[in-house]
Amino acid sequence: MVDLLTLTLEQRVPVQMQGETAGFTWQWLGEGLLQCTPKTAYRKTMLLSAGIHGNETAPIELLANIINDLFTERFTLAVRVLFVFGNPEAIRHGVRYLENDMNRMFCGAYQQLAQDQETARAAHLEQVTAQFFEQSQPQAQRYHYDLHTAIRASLLPVFALFPYQSKPYDEFLIQSLEAADLDALVYHNAAGKTFTHFTAEKFQAASSTLELGKAKPFGANDLAQFASTDQMLRAVLADQALPIRQKSDIRQFKVMDSILKQSEDFQLKLSADAPNFSTFQKGELIATQQAGDYVVHDQQVWILFPNPKVKTGLRAGLILKEIE
Ligand SMILES: [Zn+2]
Repeated sequence: MVDLLTLTLEQRVPVQMQGETAGFTWQWLGEGLLQCTPKTAYRKTMLLSAGIHGNETAPIELLANIINDLFTERFTLAVRVLFVFGNPEAIRHGVRYLENDMNRMFCGAYQQLAQDQETARAAHLEQVTAQFFEQSQPQAQRYHYDLHTAIRASLLPVFALFPYQSKPYDEFLIQSLEAADLDALVYHNAAGKTFTHFTAEKFQAASSTLELGKAKPFGANDLAQFASTDQMLRAVLADQALPIRQKSDIRQFKVMDSILKQSEDFQLKLSADAPNFSTFQKGELIATQQAGDYVVHDQQVWILFPNPKVKTGLRAGLILKEIE
């Protein structure tokens, strides 16, 4: 039994570094990293990550419960999986990040920052991910679900983002997100420095970032809210039929534009607590700064992740359009 969450919170090394159950072998690969491989052949190899933002505790608890249930054989593992708690030090401090946002550090972007434990962690996660996928059976389709919660409330409460890619998106990945009762899918229009962009671009994984409600401290989460995602992930891990969707059709959006904070006078024309997927109509002002105002040209747009407090030079929000 490996209690990955307790080991991570207490910064401890397990007594045993590897072992096996009736159905799978496992290796503890370092802080917050646990690899499990079924003893039988598998068709999928899957990275399951949470805690890239340290204060997003619900998905961390969700993965901890899944790991627990795997070891107690409440369900059978049928895919190869690497569980990742992304930023252990930030998890222990209950903060999003210590110095820099780790979900902007991938694809080598950590090299452009002052070197610290978070840049070292990003570099290490890139290495471990590469090894994991390269050591998996070559025929196995690669997946990556990176689990988050959002900083603010959302008019569409649970949604997923796809990294930009030129090839078609994996059908099974989309089906699984529908089965998880997500409200919306958002397609990026440009390369990013996120963990999912890294796995999609470098390893041709079918990757998605899931946003599952709002960030709360450990113990304060109502995991029932995340039940549909939990059921979907367990079905994927067991390679069994996906749950039936309970909601109306999933909505789809594409990113049209990123609002870049270019100077300290940057202001968003949106109340501080405005939810994700707030709308703006043609002619309305979204942001002001020295470099120029941002005015809506389309009939209607949606805003995602508005955050005027980001560091200068970073993205302060995404502008979306709905795909009919
Ligand atoms: Zn996050």
